[in-house]
Amino acid sequence: MNAETTGVLKVDGLCKRYPGFALADVSFTLPRGYIMGLIGPNGAGKTTTLKLILGLLRRDDGAIRAFGLDPARQGAALRSRIGFVHDEPHFYRHLTLTGNAALVARFYRSWEWETFRRLADAFELPLRKRFGALSHGNKTKFALALALSHRAELVVLDEPTSGLDPVFRRDLLDTLTELLQDERTSILFSTHITSDLERIADFITLIQNGRIVFSAAKDEILERWALVKGGLELLERLPRGYFRGIHRGAHGFEALTDDVAAARRELGGSAVIEAATLDDLVLYTTESEPDA
Ligand code: ATP
Repeated sequence: MNAETTGVLKVDGLCKRYPGFALADVSFTLPRGYIMGLIGPNGAGKTTTLKLILGLLRRDDGAIRAFGLDPARQGAALRSRIGFVHDEPHFYRHLTLTGNAALVARFYRSWEWETFRRLADAFELPLRKRFGALSHGNKTKFALALALSHRAELVVLDEPTSGLDPVFRRDLLDTLTELLQDERTSILFSTHITSDLERIADFITLIQNGRIVFSAAKDEILERWALVKGGLELLERLPRGYFRGIHRGAHGFEALTDDVAAARRELGGSAVIEAATLDDLVLYTTESEPDA
């Protein structure tokens, strides 16, 4: 990973307050040409973060810059360079897909009909059907085809793979990976399906209850974190705070460590230490005892 790479998107100390929920001090950087997965449980603040980046919501505090532009002041200019897919795509229900695409195309100077037709064909979209008559999966595919047809420098996808079948998901991930080949496009991708990110993401940002747990290179995260399984007596021996996210069962516990080398050294044969998946990281840092 090249540390010198320009940050196409910089989020710094972002805050947004709702009654009963606060996005607090969210910071991360997405370098140009890379893909970042934004993960976290329901209600963590993923959609709120993406809407703030797109300038569709007003932040209460912090700074956001995409290509150096501030979404709060230069939202339209910024959105013309972003391809975005909302978690529930909305277009004109009574218009055909071609009709809707013609309206969207007018908004982008760099719109490419050829790319749109190629994607529509690959996604098997019924272009003459009315948008309102599409299945949920096809609505998402249509939104994706639009988002990828105007040479966007940043593609922001909110849960794009939910409701899509595994074959299409695999093809979509290939399409997104191809898109990165030009090294000018960057992708920010929020999802619950973390296995998709294990395949394609360069960076992962985990957000929980409005706060960042970590934002780092995926390989670094997967090397650093591990799942430890052992007998309950082990918990008595270790100092409080040794593990993150402890799940106790009748006979043993499972917990995360963010220092796998130390855990191997210190726990040796008394525990099983396995590689943690992104799902483990979401699960164990969410539904867990704070510290033990
Ligand atoms: P999911 O994975 O379920 O889509 P999320 O991580 O995208 O969740 P958000 O949609 O960002 O989460 O919501 C974060 C919190 O903010 C939730 O508790 C939600 O109820 C609250 N919230 C979102 N929009 C508003 C609003 N307009 N007014 C008040 N609260 C809101």
